[in-house]
Amino acid sequence: MKRFCHRRKLSHRHSISTLESVQTVLVIEDEADITDLVAFNLERVGCRVLKAYDGQVGLELALKERPDIIVLDLMLPTLNGLGVLKGLRRDARTQQIPVILLTARAQTEDRIAGLAAGADDYVTKPFSPKELVLRVQAVLKRMQISSGSTDFTVGSFRFDKNSLKFYIDSEPVELTATEFKLLLFLCERVNHPQQRNDMLRSVWGYSDDVISRTLDTHMKRLRQKLGSHADKVETIRGVGYRFVNPAP
Ligand code: CA
Repeated sequence: MKRFCHRRKLSHRHSISTLESVQTVLVIEDEADITDLVAFNLERVGCRVLKAYDGQVGLELALKERPDIIVLDLMLPTLNGLGVLKGLRRDARTQQIPVILLTARAQTEDRIAGLAAGADDYVTKPFSPKELVLRVQAVLKRMQISSGSTDFTVGSFRFDKNSLKFYIDSEPVELTATEFKLLLFLCERVNHPQQRNDMLRSVWGYSDDVISRTLDTHMKRLRQKLGSHADKVETIRGVGYRFVNPAP
């Protein structure tokens, strides 16, 4: 049985800007109406769309195809969205692929769990296709690193902005794109406290209550990954965060 299909269609008759290169989006959602609507709108802005209608197929397709971004529903047959997300984050091939969750309004706890498990953003159902397309483009843009210098070093931290690879004392540390951007944002402003809203707008492109809670879960996981360097990322109560690099 064919569970998914590949399609490519380019159109420029849309108010949403097209991306510079063809980006592959994997949509994992069992409700075919929603999947088709999402796919149609993404294809209009030049994306290549892969579809999967259950969690297990979606996870396998992600591992095989390594899409640029995944739109993942939480309520799925065979393997739920949270299971798919954990599977993606466990495997080196898919660890860094950004994930946007589709969640029902009532699924607040699942949404928080999803963000804590490494999702990059979320959209609440019912959503407008335009909103989702904009969100996908914002996250893809987050993946595109600004031009100019490709390496940034502060203390024992080194960021390779081209490949989104991060090293501590030359040892690679696996960060998601969101974690990479958050840490880079702080490190480029070393020793200066950064406001939450500035961090949110810089990385997510917008700021709201849920995404604000997301920031803390991302920062918590980021600190865990920094190990003995975790205390260099300080929480500034009522303000935001600061990366502290003591003078040598
Ligand atoms: Ca569903």
